[in-house]
Amino acid sequence: MKIYDMHCDVLCKLRKDEKEGRGVSLRQNEHHIDLLRMKQAGYGLQCFAAFVNQGEDKDVAQSALEQIDIFHRQMEENQDLIAPIYCYEDIRRNDKQEKMSALLTIEGGEACGGSLAMLRNYYRMGVRLMTLTWNYENELGFPNINMGDESCSNPFFADTKNGLKENGIVFLEEMECLGMAVDVSHLSDAGFYDVAAHTKKPFLATHSNAREEASFVRNLTDDMIRVIAERGGVIGINYCADFLWNFAPGEKTVSRVEDMVRHIRHMVNVGGVEIVGLGSDFDGIGGELEISDCGKMYLLADALKNAGFPSSVQDKILGGNVDRVLRDLL
Ligand SMILES: [Zn+2]
Repeated sequence: MKIYDMHCDVLCKLRKDEKEGRGVSLRQNEHHIDLLRMKQAGYGLQCFAAFVNQGEDKDVAQSALEQIDIFHRQMEENQDLIAPIYCYEDIRRNDKQEKMSALLTIEGGEACGGSLAMLRNYYRMGVRLMTLTWNYENELGFPNINMGDESCSNPFFADTKNGLKENGIVFLEEMECLGMAVDVSHLSDAGFYDVAAHTKKPFLATHSNAREEASFVRNLTDDMIRVIAERGGVIGINYCADFLWNFAPGEKTVSRVEDMVRHIRHMVNVGGVEIVGLGSDFDGIGGELEISDCGKMYLLADALKNAGFPSSVQDKILGGNVDRVLRDLL
């Protein structure tokens, strides 16, 4: 099975490269993700997020649009290696042509400014998945870590009160109608259950781990894992050290493959073998990573094998489960 990864932030890095006058290349670069290393490592599909940051971007919609522009320019330039997908059949067509698939996403619903017209326009530009919030309150709802409100920015305190706003619920309906996947990573605990209550299709947590294994609130409780499993959704394992281990203050944080396997095993135990996928967060995370870039993905494949997962389950985790959900959603 080829590797499917539900979340990376390399578009944001490429936008910075462009702003600072460096060359922009998805094909070959110094970031965690580039196409030549992906090809070598056996990738089938990568989600590329247009990530917006209310705290830094003067205009979040412009930021998203600039990243989407980079995405499409890079797709044109590299059509020998990769092609964007707009429906599930596009993945199969790319497979046949021995090309990788690229799925455009938005991280941070504030890119829509609360406007359904903006949401539909992003869909027309190829966006097929949206993370409802990043780490700020927006027009749709509240995150677990709210960087705009000091009283709600404790990474170990989940927000069980402030969920989706009325507009968020309206957006869910439109997203399901369009065929745009709903991503609850970053969303508050209350928002998670609002999504569960107001959607019918499978939904995703593209880059979140298990809170029982590391208490960071970006991770999911066992109950949430079960809710996603019952709906037929999938959860992408995040490679960030803070999501993997409860580090003591001052302790050197390292993202270890063995910890990733521990989270995967926990999720499989709680939600079954259909629930786990990958959501590296490459180019959105820092620190020391054993899987230092997309070219090192064999480390995880080997670790899953050594951990005793049957080969059919290894395949599901590395890509099969995400493939299934995209078939259901797109
Ligand atoms: Zn994120």
